[in-house]
Amino acid sequence: MFAIKAGQAFDGKRLIPGGATLMLDQGQIIGVQSAAAPLPQGCEVAEFPHATVLPGLIDTHVHLGCDGRDGALGRLADYPDEDLAGVIEAALRRHLAAGVTTVRDLGDRRWSVVARRDQVTTPDASTMPTIVASGPPITSVGGHCWHLGGEVRGGEAALRAAIAERIERRVDVIKIMVSGGVLTTGTDVMSCQFDDEDLRLLVDQAHRAGLPVTAHAHGLPAVEQAVAAGVDGIEHGNCVTPTGAHIPDSLLDRLAERGIAVCPTILAKIAGIRRSATESAFIQRFGLTSETVQAHIAQMHRAGARIVAGTDGGIGSAKPHGIIHSAISALAASGLSVAQALATATSVAAQVCGLGSRKGQLRAGYDADLLFVDGDPLTNVDALIHPAAVMVHGRWAAGPSTTER
Ligand SMILES: [Zn+2]
Repeated sequence: MFAIKAGQAFDGKRLIPGGATLMLDQGQIIGVQSAAAPLPQGCEVAEFPHATVLPGLIDTHVHLGCDGRDGALGRLADYPDEDLAGVIEAALRRHLAAGVTTVRDLGDRRWSVVARRDQVTTPDASTMPTIVASGPPITSVGGHCWHLGGEVRGGEAALRAAIAERIERRVDVIKIMVSGGVLTTGTDVMSCQFDDEDLRLLVDQAHRAGLPVTAHAHGLPAVEQAVAAGVDGIEHGNCVTPTGAHIPDSLLDRLAERGIAVCPTILAKIAGIRRSATESAFIQRFGLTSETVQAHIAQMHRAGARIVAGTDGGIGSAKPHGIIHSAISALAASGLSVAQALATATSVAAQVCGLGSRKGQLRAGYDADLLFVDGDPLTNVDALIHPAAVMVHGRWAAGPSTTER
């Protein structure tokens, strides 16, 4: 058993005034007390008087098989397996360095990320982020990201087989490309890739096996279709129409009522990073300026929709791995309080990843996945950019600086 004392603490939902003492044992938090609480005799303690301790962050939308350089998503199909394993490892390290202790991968190639997840047989001994994975996204023939291997021809048997294969591989979530995508030529962000009945069958089969479904959807018709089919999450969710983005009130109500997790994959500007020409063209086509997107997120948040942080990390040079701070910062500028924005990458994200009973909060019985940042991220979100230390399952994965131990 050992203790952590921090001058300030965010528990995954709110600030703990005056900081906290965390008691840790066997990779878990076993107690959370005030910073002034006395320690058992002989208990080793690591003190962070000037830092804030938070639950390790969760990025709910990444692509670990993509290397975060120009054209990464397109190149994913061509990597030999050995190279792919190296890319995944490097991506995990970048997330860890950014304070991310859990990632949800929403699209791999040849089940490579699912395989990497399965290599970890004793999570307590690992100092790498926990992986939640979908495998190759289900898409239509020639549809968005078809080259990842998830194309499904129409017809009930093929649709059932696609879900059955994912159940057999023990994926954590089913990802379906409900609309076309920005980065796959020949697909259209405004079009639905499946008809209503087929999409409903996919969702029903997944739910029957206890698996959540999240839908990649840009166009308003695709978002409406996905919600009607009963999905649990929407990725991007720009709700674009031929005349710009628009979210009808009835859709806002349904998103809120059903507790659907919306991951807008919005990022605040990062120094030295520029958008790709393809993304800029998409933004221009639909008038998706930062202000417009932030206003839409604010509208969803006000209506009671569940917003969750995700970066789409890896898919290109504008979206490298390890930039969750930028997603949190963008959400904090979209009508959420900073505490609510931090929750989108901690307690709320953990629920969305199916890990709500053991991650994303500073609570007894939860995994000791912790992030330490200098200063106060609740008054300055940028404090998240350079973590002081990261702990995974009670083991130091990065830092802490030796002077403060
Ligand atoms: Zn993605």
